[in-house]
Amino acid sequence: MEFDAVVVGGGLVGAALARALRGAQLALIAQERPAAPGAGFDTRVYAISPGNARFLESLQVWQRMPAARVTPVHAMRVHGDDGRSVLEFDAYRAGVSELAWIVEDGWLQDALWQELAVQDRLQLFAPAACERLEVGGEAARLALRDGRTLAARLVIGADGAHSAMREQAGIKASERAYGQVAVVANFACQRRHDNVALQWFQGGPVLALLPLPGDHVSMVWSTTEAHAARLLALAPPALALEVAQASQQALGELAVVTPARGFALRRLIAARMVAPRLALVGDAAHVVHPLAGQGANLGFQDARELAQVLAARGPYRDPGDLRLLRRYERARAEAILAMRGAVHGLYWLFDVRSAPLAWLRNAGLNLTNRLSVMKNVLMRQAMN
Ligand SMILES: Cc1cc2nc3c(=O)[nH]c(=O)nc-3n(C[C@H](O)[C@H](O)[C@H](O)COP(=O)(O)OP(=O)(O)OC[C@H]3O[C@@H](n4cnc5c(N)ncnc54)[C@H](O)[C@@H]3O)c2cc1C
Repeated sequence: MEFDAVVVGGGLVGAALARALRGAQLALIAQERPAAPGAGFDTRVYAISPGNARFLESLQVWQRMPAARVTPVHAMRVHGDDGRSVLEFDAYRAGVSELAWIVEDGWLQDALWQELAVQDRLQLFAPAACERLEVGGEAARLALRDGRTLAARLVIGADGAHSAMREQAGIKASERAYGQVAVVANFACQRRHDNVALQWFQGGPVLALLPLPGDHVSMVWSTTEAHAARLLALAPPALALEVAQASQQALGELAVVTPARGFALRRLIAARMVAPRLALVGDAAHVVHPLAGQGANLGFQDARELAQVLAARGPYRDPGDLRLLRRYERARAEAILAMRGAVHGLYWLFDVRSAPLAWLRNAGLNLTNRLSVMKNVLMRQAMN
């Protein structure tokens, strides 16, 4: 079986890229097909930037999600770790109608896969896993675990943080554990959230409450491994009480509506995003701390850029040509560097273990000072 391109990995980024490459002779290899979304709220939710909402709209995906399950964020309130400082980001002042949209994983995956199911010239291999990559002069060869083999002029590694495609292409990645676990759960809240996303920096841990439809919020509490283990072991009423207290009762009393889950947090950056006949997208190329909700957003931007570079190449040019792929890598370098710097910088500034923080504190810098540089970078990048 021969293809122009094969996308390995059917997560959010791989699925969106497969959709963005419509028209090409394409294969998507996915380990599983997403389950149909249930009536309850999904534990995994994403803040999606306005730029990526437009991208997903151009793929006919955004409009497939039920409008009642897509929540606009009109403002964001960030609380510092000194108990006093508050910084606000406001859509109105930024001259936009919303800062982001909160969507549930299940509904977004479902919308993507509904479009993929009717896409011409796309062959879906799901469930299937790619086991081996061999790159030759004219094509790359992929061996699936079930024994089938595929040939493609371009392989796209969208296979997540533990990317086998990255490893088999010999691309090094530097990786570090944050020593934190993100505990996620959804709550019904006593007070209205008014479409405001709330965040508390707690000298290392970061607690965020993101608005969901009705009087509901989604929590992401990135905290120490020991604290996370304790939170995950709590009965729902005790967890709700602890989160209500940590959020200073900003939304009144809380009640758990979706049980808690934990995700160990790491950061990762691949030394290259491309190799002969291979391009990496999404978490396969870069993983960032979820405190700014930017991981999937960076991945969708990769997908947009790679699709644009391939579309602009002209009918006779080989999509696996390394010079062409380097154009994609160069186009992404600055935005990835800026976002990684801003996200990691924020984490580091508020981490009690970092010595420079003590110096900054002693110098009397408050939250607004500490955030002002980051704020500009984040605002500019996060809207894309
Ligand atoms: C707690 C938490 C909150 C987050 N919140 C946000 C947010 O608000 N906004 C945001 O933008 N980002 C957020 N992120 C980041 C976001 O979840 C990730 O960046 C994003 O899901 C990465 O998508 P991906 O498709 O690149 O990778 P993955 O989702 O990891 O998908 C990779 C896919 O490849 C498949 N695969 C792996 N190996 C193979 C193989 N050999 N063959 C075939 N398939 C294979 C896997 O099964 C998987 O389906 C958050 C992350 C966490 C942990």
